[in-house]
Amino acid sequence: MSGGSECAVVGGGLAGFTAYATLIHGGIPPDEITVFDATGADPAQAWRRRANAIRQRRMRSESNGHCLPTSFPGLALRSAWRGHSVWPLVESVCDRYHPTVEEFLEHVDELRSRIGWEAAVVRTRVERIGVRPDGFSLDEHGTFRHVLLAPGPAAVNVPEELAGDPRTVHAYEPHEYAHDLAVVGAGMAAATEWRNALAAGARVTSVRRREPLRRPLSVPRPLLSRRGLRAFHATRPLERAAILETLLAPSYPPGREWDEPLQCGGARFRVEAEVNGEAQIICATGFRRGFGAQPLLAQLVAEHGPETHGDWIVLAPDSTVPALTNDERTLALAGVAAQWAYPAADTLAGAKYAAHGFLRAVQRCRTR
Ligand SMILES: Cc1cc2nc3c(=O)[nH]c(=O)nc-3n(C[C@H](O)[C@H](O)[C@H](O)COP(=O)(O)OP(=O)(O)OC[C@H]3O[C@@H](n4cnc5c(N)ncnc54)[C@H](O)[C@@H]3O)c2cc1C
Repeated sequence: MSGGSECAVVGGGLAGFTAYATLIHGGIPPDEITVFDATGADPAQAWRRRANAIRQRRMRSESNGHCLPTSFPGLALRSAWRGHSVWPLVESVCDRYHPTVEEFLEHVDELRSRIGWEAAVVRTRVERIGVRPDGFSLDEHGTFRHVLLAPGPAAVNVPEELAGDPRTVHAYEPHEYAHDLAVVGAGMAAATEWRNALAAGARVTSVRRREPLRRPLSVPRPLLSRRGLRAFHATRPLERAAILETLLAPSYPPGREWDEPLQCGGARFRVEAEVNGEAQIICATGFRRGFGAQPLLAQLVAEHGPETHGDWIVLAPDSTVPALTNDERTLALAGVAAQWAYPAADTLAGAKYAAHGFLRAVQRCRTR
C-alpha cells in the first residue's frame, strides 16, 4: 500500500513511463509520484513482446519517437553522436530517419535508470477508481490528487470466425512461420509480417478487405501540427469521431524497402479476400477497440459516467476528463484511450502530448 500522495500514474508502459519522466522534468518531486503497473518495472515489456513477435527492426516513428520529456534532442542526434556521423541528422531533416528498435530500447533503459523509475513503481493491478472531492482513490492504495490513466491497449483482436481455429495466432504473440500462411490485416504489423515471412521462405497470402494506405506515420502529418490539432479540437463530436474512424484504415509506409520484398517474393506473395486452407493464419488485426474493452476504463465509465462518444471517452484538448477534473484534482488519460484529444495518442509522440497536458494540469493546481 502506498497510502496516497500527490500524483499517480496507472500503467507503467511507455505512456506511463513518458509521463513519469515528464513530471520529474517539470519539477514534481519523485516522492510525490506513484506508478502502478500490473506487470512490473520494465516500461518496454509489453511493447518489446509485441515488436519481437512481428520481428520489427526499425521504428515507424522518427527521431522524436522516444520517451524524453522534450522532443529535442531526439534519437537521430544520439545516433549521430555515437556513430560519429552526421547521416542520421541529414535523414532526420528529410523525415527519413527511423531509429532501430535496438536504439530505441537502449534509450528506454538509459532513461529508466537516470530518472529512478524502479523506485516509483508499485507492482499491482488497479481494479477500481473512486472519485473523492480531493482526488481519486485507487483500490486500497489511498487517494491521489492527480491521476493519469495509461493502461495501454485492450486485449488483442482476433476476428470471431478465426478465434477457435487451431491454425490461428495473433501477430503480437510469439510465433514461427509455417511454409504456407495467411496474414489477415493490411497495416504496419501485417506489412512487417509479409516481409519477414517471405524472407523466411514462406508462401504468403495477404487477406484483406481494404487496400492499405501508404503513409509514413500512423496518422497524416498535418494532424500532428499545432494548426492541424487546433482544427481537430474545434470539430464537433460527430465530425471528430468520423476523423478518428478514418484513421483506423490500415496503412504502412511507402518506399522500396516495403515494395521490393513483395516483388521479389513473386508468386509466393498473393492477395485474397478470404483465408483458404493455409497451414497458419496470422491475425495482424491489432487490439480490441474502445474504452469498453479496457476493464479499468469500462469501470470508470460505468461508475462515474464521464461523457463518451461512440468508442471514446470525451476529453479536453489537454487529455483531461472534463467532468472529473477541477481546481482540486485532475483525471487524465494517456495512450490509445486519449485519442479524443490527440489522434496519434497511441504513439510515442502521443504519450508525450498527454504527459505534458497532465503536467500542466498538476502545476496549475499546485500554484493555486
Ligand atoms: C508492434 C508495435 C510497434 C510499434 N511501433 C511504434 C513506433 O515505431 N513508434 C511509435 O511512436 N509507436 C509505436 N507503437 C505504438 C505505441 O508506442 C505503443 O502502443 C505503446 O507501447 C503504448 O504504450 P502504453 O503505455 O499506452 O501501453 P503498454 O505499453 O501496453 O503499457 C500499458 C501498461 O499498463 C499496465 N496496466 C494495464 N492495466 C492496468 C491496471 N488496471 N493497473 C495497473 N497496470 C495496468 C500493463 O501491465 C502495461 O504494463 C507500436 C506499437 C506496437 C504494438
